[in-house]
Amino acid sequence: MVTTAPESKSAAGEKSDWLDPFLAAWQPGTGAAREVKEPATGRHLLTIHQSTPDDVHRAAAAAAAAQPAWAAMDYQERSAILRRAAEIYEQHRAEFGAWTQRETGAHHNKMHHEQNFTVAELLAAATMPWQPYGSLVPTVQKERLSMIRRVPAGVVGAITPWNSPSVLGMRVVAPALALGNAVVLKPDPQTPVCGGAMFAAIFREAGLPDGLLQIVIGDAEAGEALVTDPAINVVCFTGSTEVGRKVGALAGGLLKKVSLELGGNNPLIVLDDADVAAAASAGAYATFQFQGQVCFGTGRHIVHRKVVDEYVERLATTARRLRTGDPYREDVELGPIVNEQQLKRVDDIVKRSVESGARLVVGGTHEGLFYRPTVLTEVTLTTPAWTDEVFGPVAPVITFDGDDEAVALANSSQYGLSGAVYSRSISRGLAIAQQIKAGMVHVNDQTINDEATIPFGGMGLSGNGSRYGGEANLDTFTEWQWVTVRDEAKSYAPTY
Ligand code: NAD
Repeated sequence: MVTTAPESKSAAGEKSDWLDPFLAAWQPGTGAAREVKEPATGRHLLTIHQSTPDDVHRAAAAAAAAQPAWAAMDYQERSAILRRAAEIYEQHRAEFGAWTQRETGAHHNKMHHEQNFTVAELLAAATMPWQPYGSLVPTVQKERLSMIRRVPAGVVGAITPWNSPSVLGMRVVAPALALGNAVVLKPDPQTPVCGGAMFAAIFREAGLPDGLLQIVIGDAEAGEALVTDPAINVVCFTGSTEVGRKVGALAGGLLKKVSLELGGNNPLIVLDDADVAAAASAGAYATFQFQGQVCFGTGRHIVHRKVVDEYVERLATTARRLRTGDPYREDVELGPIVNEQQLKRVDDIVKRSVESGARLVVGGTHEGLFYRPTVLTEVTLTTPAWTDEVFGPVAPVITFDGDDEAVALANSSQYGLSGAVYSRSISRGLAIAQQIKAGMVHVNDQTINDEATIPFGGMGLSGNGSRYGGEANLDTFTEWQWVTVRDEAKSYAPTY
């Protein structure tokens, strides 16, 4: 049961005859009531009952019971449900957009990007049931047929963070369902609607059979109940490296397949022959967009000594110009940091960076949750803003003289999610890009790039080698099975 703010037309401000009755009747849990507030205004958005471990276990059992019939269903019907889900999302884009902005504090551009991507995940997944799911393989025993096929993993447990709840949920839910699995989704409790209820509403209307998609709401207790539930066959976790370690250890102890998509501290290298204006604009976008709360945003700017003054000047000019405020109501580029705890963390990293010798060029201040875009120079390999994933609008800039040094600086972090190189020489840019230890690297573009067709994921502290998207979804959401068939029963007599 969800109760929305009584003083408003609806909690998101956009009255919806479709979503509001659904939310009023939605019951994701029987546990303690939890209030969800809008970060930008502090306004009450809704109160939601969290899921207890027992609720999670019931959800997992119901998902497991529903899965076999779904896997056996006509593939065209499975595909059609995903296509219908995409259409329903488009029809209710405005409501979902409003909730996304209210719950996460996202700017319009970020919200639209996330919405486009969410639909793309559904459309890409809708093509999956039509694809071959195995092959015939050679065998030394000529009289038998030998085939390998992909079978659904079973029940997928998905745990997602608050920062891009709809796309990070949909990149698991859509392909997992398409490939014949059931899913239990646990979004972050700060974003229960755009990370959870929205999925339930869409798939119910799209005709997904009952039981296949379960939403549970809660934090660590609910998350651990999901990871350890015996009915959950695959754990798909997206979130911080710190929590990812715990989830990986729990799942590993139970010998479960686990996909970990974790934090990043992504480098952007600017060579001396780069288009500095373009590079600085890309660097500003990749660090300040959505207040820096993007896993593959740029956390480290590595700039050639010959162009660093111009680069920093341009970055700082943009930082001064960007406006902060409530992105739902105002004409601003940056919204709030998601909560007080995260704001204190960002502020503390900046303060400790300055204490340790970094120069604050611009920013470093905040009003309430609105943190000003910040540029730091005279950064070293031990500056906190360089070593840590800040997850805030903070751009530490370090200088280099040679290409090998730039590569070494980029690879000095244990994270390995995304990277970028700006150079007018494609071969030089490519030579550097190929040496960066990251799951994704872009020449003459910045680090925030994704498409539903590519295998998204990171190396090192950014993940455990799993990927989402395109062909990689087959590895993540299915198991291989080898099947052989003989015409005649083979006997092992006379020895046996
Ligand atoms: P977080 O790790 O605190 O929380 C993520 C999810 O885990 C939430 O749903 C949370 O409720 C749940 N959780 C918390 N403790 C748990 C536990 N003990 N067991 C199981 N689940 C638990 O992450 P966050 O701070 O909300 O998100 C930001 C982080 O996520 C950043 O580090 C960011 O880089 C990362 N991220 C990574 C990707 C990626 O694809 N690599 C994408 C987005 C965000």
